[in-house]
Order: sequence, then C-alpha cells, then structure tokens
Amino acid sequence: MKKLNNGMSVPMVGLGTYALKGETCVRSVLEAIRAGYRLIDTAHMYGNEREVGVAVRKAVDEGLVSREDVLVITKLYPNQFDQARKAADLALDRLDIGHIDMMLLHHPGPGDVAAYGILEEYVASGRIRALGLSNYYIRELDDFMGRVALPPALVQNEIHPYYQDAGVTRHILSRGVAVQAWYPLGGRGHQKALFGDPVILRIARAHGKSPAQVMLRWNIQNDVIVIPGSSNPDHIRENISIFDFSLSEADMRDIAALNRDEKHDWY
Ligand code: NAD
Repeated sequence: MKKLNNGMSVPMVGLGTYALKGETCVRSVLEAIRAGYRLIDTAHMYGNEREVGVAVRKAVDEGLVSREDVLVITKLYPNQFDQARKAADLALDRLDIGHIDMMLLHHPGPGDVAAYGILEEYVASGRIRALGLSNYYIRELDDFMGRVALPPALVQNEIHPYYQDAGVTRHILSRGVAVQAWYPLGGRGHQKALFGDPVILRIARAHGKSPAQVMLRWNIQNDVIVIPGSSNPDHIRENISIFDFSLSEADMRDIAALNRDEKHDWY
C-alpha cells in the first residue's frame, strides 16, 4: 500500500481498463477483484465507466468486497474542463458506486486549474475522495501546484523499462505526490521487445517469475504504483502475484540501464 498525502492508502497494483469494453470489461474487473485487486483505473475517455461500476456493484452484491475496500480512479478529459461540474456529475452517474475514490485530470490543458477548483468542491462534499493528475511532468506539476489549494495526491505517467523518466518520478515523489505508471508493460504492440529483452528474461528466469512480473516489481520497488491492463484471467492473476519475491540491487541497476527514453505514446 502507498500512503497518499491526504491520508488515503492505495494498493501498489491495480487493473488498467483502457482497452476493456462492454462485457469484457465487466468480466475482467470482476476477475481482478476475485484475484485480490482493490484498485481499478478507468476514464471518461475509455468509454467504460458504466461497466466498471457494474462490476464493482456486482462484487459488492456477491459479498466479495465491501464498497470501501475498492478504489476506483477515473479521469476528466481536457475537452470536459470547461464543464467540469457536468463532467464530474456524469462520471458519478455512470459509475453509480456512491463516491469516486480519485479523479485525475487526464492531460494538462486550458482550464485545468479552474476544473480542478470545481473538483475540490466535490472533495469537500465527499463525492470525490482525492484528486490527481496525469501526464504532468516537472514544469507542469510545479506550475500547477503553485495555483491550486489542495495538492494532487497522485500523478499517473508513462513508465516502463524503456521509458523510465526517473528524474520526473523522483521530482514528483519529492513533492509528496504518489506516482503511478501507465503502460507499465510498455503498452500494446511492444510486448515482443520488452518481454523478449535479454536482461528482463535473465532476471525473470533467475527468480522463477515472468517478464511481466519482473517489470511490475521493478516499478513498485521504485515506489511507483502499477496499473497493468489485461482481459486474460491468467495474466490478471499473474500481474498481482509479485509480492513473494524481490529484485536485488543489481537487478534494479540492470533494469535501470535499459532506459532508452523511448516513449510509447505521444503525451
Ligand atoms: P500495459 O503496458 O499495461 O499492457 C500492455 C499489454 O500487455 C496488453 O496488451 C496486455 O494484454 C498485455 N499483458 C498484460 N499482462 C500480461 C502478462 N502478464 N503477460 C503477457 N502480456 C500481458 O498497457 P495498457 O493496458 O494499455 O496500460 C495500462 C493502463 O494504464 C491502461 O489500461 C489505462 O488504465 C492506463 N493508461 C493511462 C494513460 C494516461 O494517459 N493516463 C495512457 C495509457 C494507459
């Protein structure tokens, strides 16, 4: 668990739902909760808040968890910033799970500070428990933090062995803000390179773990929360089974040396 600057605790592993649609989304979120996940990442932009909500309610109804046990993160897209109240109400309505645990601004953009100001009202009234940002780097974060009252609790950025952005991560953590990695496995279309990387493979074999587990473990040992995405029940279970081994300092150094500053998405 990672303790946030507002006192909340967040699991180090959550399920990413970017590519999960319809029934597949409902099934995968339920599968994840059954496997022990207590953190789910969605967004207005993914078009699946409703399905995430259905799955969380189902899990509660089936007695798998109580609502308080599961943290749901969603995000406002920049084209919603000028109507943040309407957008927040829409997210609350679509999810239909009472409160939202955390709302992120998906990207920096015009009106982000004002939109965040409106979300602060939702935090004050308990409809949203925490606020955060995504795709904010050193300059963007420092500028933003100078202009808002409630410090963001978390920043979600691209982080995997080929795009480590270590200086940005250190900076965000030094400001008392948690860091969460999107594309922790490199994102779709990059599996062959990352999963077949000789260094990752060697470390995985040495620990009797999979390349995915090594990459996720590397992030959490750097104090970075991960949200791998998958609809495959075996992968969903595999991705949270990373608390029974640890990477050595040499392993961590060898993975650090793989950085290529190779971003796998444009933002
Ligand atoms: P990922 O890096 O988590 O996964 C990439 C691919 O790996 C997927 O195709 C998946 O099927 C596969 N995979 C997962 N587990 C595996 C395993 N154990 N073995 C083999 N293959 C496995 O990429 P992602 O799901 O696109 O990203 C993770 C999450 O990050 C998203 O679901 C979303 O929630 C979030 N995200 C946020 C932003 C942002 O701008 N804030 C951008 C992109 C993604």
